[in-house]
Amino acid sequence: MDRSLLRELPSVDEVARDGRLKGAIEAHSSAVVMGAARSAIDSMRMSIIDGTLKAVSIDSAVERTLGYIDCLTKASFRRIINASGTILHTNIGRAVLPDEAIEALRFAAEGNANLEFDLEKGERGERDSHVEGLITKLTGAEAACVVNNNAAAVLIALNTLAEGKEVVISRGELIEIGGSFRLPEIIKKSGCILKEVGTTNRTHGADYTGAMTDATALLLKAHTSNYKVVGFTSDVPLKALVEIGRENGIPVIEDLGSGSLADLSVWGLPKEPLVSESIAAGVDVVTFSGDKLLGGPQAGIIAGKREFIDRIRKNPLKRALRAGKLTLSSLEAVLRLYLNRDKLREAVPTLRHMTRDINDIEEAAMKARPLIEAALGAPFKVWVEKDVSVIGGGALPETTLPTWVVSITSESIPAEGISRLFLSASPAILGRINRDRFLLDPRTVEDPALLVPRLK
Ligand SMILES: *Cc1c(COP(=O)(O)O)cnc(C)c1O
Repeated sequence: MDRSLLRELPSVDEVARDGRLKGAIEAHSSAVVMGAARSAIDSMRMSIIDGTLKAVSIDSAVERTLGYIDCLTKASFRRIINASGTILHTNIGRAVLPDEAIEALRFAAEGNANLEFDLEKGERGERDSHVEGLITKLTGAEAACVVNNNAAAVLIALNTLAEGKEVVISRGELIEIGGSFRLPEIIKKSGCILKEVGTTNRTHGADYTGAMTDATALLLKAHTSNYKVVGFTSDVPLKALVEIGRENGIPVIEDLGSGSLADLSVWGLPKEPLVSESIAAGVDVVTFSGDKLLGGPQAGIIAGKREFIDRIRKNPLKRALRAGKLTLSSLEAVLRLYLNRDKLREAVPTLRHMTRDINDIEEAAMKARPLIEAALGAPFKVWVEKDVSVIGGGALPETTLPTWVVSITSESIPAEGISRLFLSASPAILGRINRDRFLLDPRTVEDPALLVPRLK
């Protein structure tokens, strides 16, 4: 180590006074710039000590300082263009909101709103009131309330109805959803005792009745949304489970997960269970996500018999898990769109993307191809081919939707490298890799120009 280098390090003041940092002081305050200069000099000192820095100058100190300022002040949240071919991609925030919901969000964010305020009586109101009527109308349930996500909905429903008691569930339904939602753990954390019945592939009505004791408080059915057991299988349909519950005086909860409010089969897609069907089957409480097939904001919706919803609302956990004005205002706007079935498909991006015309996708891919080629330059091969999109969000795991993709390869850069290149663009573009090709699926990108990377 060269000790004389340490003495050459500029002081924090010297760096902060440099003219090149004037703009940064104006934009971000002198405290931010001083802090960044301190970090820059500290890091230079470390590099001198470990022998990796061989020369010191005010220029390099200023440059490092600008780097630290950039790190601190640049937003961490960045836009991603979803060309992954997964319509509801959990890691990038699932459903894209309809315009009406964005409008509602904006106005709720800009000022105050009657979130929990009854304008007619001029007194405190109930925050679920904005959406409860819509949910009950759309599902046939007697009552409904909303929490932050479906995991929270399951947690509070179990805790309210069965704390300290046994929850009976089929072994085949002890699911794990991505992001460490494991039903056995949620059951435990909600203060309930898990009682598994049946086997992985087969569970019968007698398994449930045989498992019931004085400690049984609840029968739970979970929609095995993200996988399917095939072959020698049997499960107890919700209606039969409701019957068993009724005979024994035990309530039944269904965790639907993606729970749909519109029958996808009218658009030629496979059918996903409808929330209204669960309610019609007589289930006491059903829980589902706001940002899966519904196509709204992240939320957990709990619908069912008034007696149970009232108890859930009174649970102190509701206070901890309640949704805020941004969630409730945008959820209300999305639910309102469901009142007009004729315009629904066009109005909700998730539904629009699931049902997008294949020729329209091909046209978008064809349009984007030469633009991408021009933006990338010579060493890339860019062409259009057939592939498949998936729905994601734990919905219809076996269903693939035919699509057209822009495929990109390079002799010198592996597909992972091309993927990183697109992620470094502004805005970042998320594609997917398949058979050593980097693929961009225009299904969820309505303007093909957005598939063209703006590289720095
Ligand atoms: C997705 C899902 C959940 C978790 O819902 P979040 O809204 O992600 O919290 C729970 N159960 C099932 C069956 C699901 O599909």
